[in-house]
Amino acid sequence: MLNNSLFSRLEEIPALLKLKLGSKDYYKNNNSETLTCDNLRYCFDTLNKVSRSFATVIKQLPNELGNNVCVFYLILRALDSIEDDMNLPKELKIKLLREFHKKNYESGWNISGVGDKKEHVELLENYDKVIQSFLAIDQKNQLIITDICRKVGAGMANFVKAEIESVEDYNLYCHHVAGLVGIGLSRMFISSGLENDDFLNQDEISNSMGLFLQKTNIVRDYREDLDEGRMFWPKDIWHVYGSKINDFAINPTHDQSVLCLNHMLNNALTHATDCLAYLKHLRNENIFKFCAIPQVMAMATLCKIYSNPDVFIKNVKIRKGLAAKLILNTTSMDEVIKVYKDMLLVIESKISSDNNPVSAETIQLLKQIREYFNDETLIVRKIA
Ligand code: CA
Repeated sequence: MLNNSLFSRLEEIPALLKLKLGSKDYYKNNNSETLTCDNLRYCFDTLNKVSRSFATVIKQLPNELGNNVCVFYLILRALDSIEDDMNLPKELKIKLLREFHKKNYESGWNISGVGDKKEHVELLENYDKVIQSFLAIDQKNQLIITDICRKVGAGMANFVKAEIESVEDYNLYCHHVAGLVGIGLSRMFISSGLENDDFLNQDEISNSMGLFLQKTNIVRDYREDLDEGRMFWPKDIWHVYGSKINDFAINPTHDQSVLCLNHMLNNALTHATDCLAYLKHLRNENIFKFCAIPQVMAMATLCKIYSNPDVFIKNVKIRKGLAAKLILNTTSMDEVIKVYKDMLLVIESKISSDNNPVSAETIQLLKQIREYFNDETLIVRKIA
């Protein structure tokens, strides 16, 4: 099964090269036109430092929308850096998170020594440049960004002292840090005039787009988060399989550990059909690529970490070559379905044959996704 074309490593080499060359071209094109403004240039340089993968997908977007989304992303990244700084006193953190949306209107504001990583500390130290770029955006998009920023900050603040206990808490937390981002992006797509405004009534599937990505990352980052002293796995799930959250790191290959991992992945997979519905809804080819690439990458990650005890020991990532190939090939709904079909087969091959409820649920979820592929409206649709 691993010999199929999607997972062939040889084919990844030209993909890697093409992507590398292509990204250089893009940067040159943009330098002359939109990156003339120093602040915006700072934003794109920083985006490259804080998230290579997001910097790659944002290049799919038309210039003005791409610029707005870049600023939106950095504002959210700054919020996340405050949230992730475990040395920041909790009261100060809560205050900062709640008030952060107002900072975007305070020219010259920045803060030093806050953030969990060097590049995040630098972002907050130079936040005045992000503010200037934000102030250069049209008012409609400023309001969208501010509204989402206020809600994300408030949601993060609510969880500074609270544990994620129930699956409901987990969904609520993921809604605040990722679902709202999906909702904000949908509004920006409409505001650009490139997508229909009936998207406004699609908050549920916009939310799922964020949740699928966030939950996949939360499962993948188990070890990193454990080492950093934070944990997002809901207690109601992991407590079924262990008495302490670090039990899984101590016994990674234990049956209960792998079952817990797969239970968490099943929870992420429940959002997959909504994500397909969202992608199906898009009509602009560039926006489609921007949205579909992270989804396909998340599915590839999920595929890699399913039944994989390495998650409890280290940070498991998909190969760069595979990522490059997915970025280049994700151009239409047909391509997404083609790749998903291969990935579902891989997940299926990893399901243990003993009759446990977690495996049964995975089988059921994969069946639902496949039924969605067979939906005629999905098959006949081609991105113009
Ligand atoms: Ca965070």
